[in-house]
Amino acid sequence: MTGKTHIVGGIAASLAYAQFTNHDPIIMLGAGVIGALLPDICHGGSKIGRKLPLLSKLMNMLFGHRTFTHSLLFLVLIAALLNAFIPNEAVRAGFMAGMVSHYILDMATKNGIKLLFPLNMTVRFPMTTRTGGAVENVVFSILSLLSFYFGYEAFGFYL
Ligand SMILES: [Zn+2]
Repeated sequence: MTGKTHIVGGIAASLAYAQFTNHDPIIMLGAGVIGALLPDICHGGSKIGRKLPLLSKLMNMLFGHRTFTHSLLFLVLIAALLNAFIPNEAVRAGFMAGMVSHYILDMATKNGIKLLFPLNMTVRFPMTTRTGGAVENVVFSILSLLSFYFGYEAFGFYL
């Protein structure tokens, strides 16, 4: 999936998750977007890869694309790091929601992800789409609508 789909996926996921917590939805949303972009650090052309080219090159050299940074192992590692260094629960929860949304979206692409890395097993849904294809635009639109819906639920009391 492209960066913009991951961003809107992170927004929808973190705002949806915010409904089940008492955390500040704005903080969760911000962390959710960053979490949704992080896994593509293994890919130099991605939004986050262009921001951190050296780290991105290193990750790509070591692991290749959509392997370690798209695995449960990485998710657990990041969760441990967040627990150790980020005292803010809203940031941690939003970040995790964003990351999980990234995995799910990439599982809907033909290449899938190596969710069980270091096992070399590709995990994807039975129905998949091409990155940047027409179906992705539909997914993007649905996620945008969901973001509005959950955003309205989360922020509605301000209006
Ligand atoms: Zn990815």
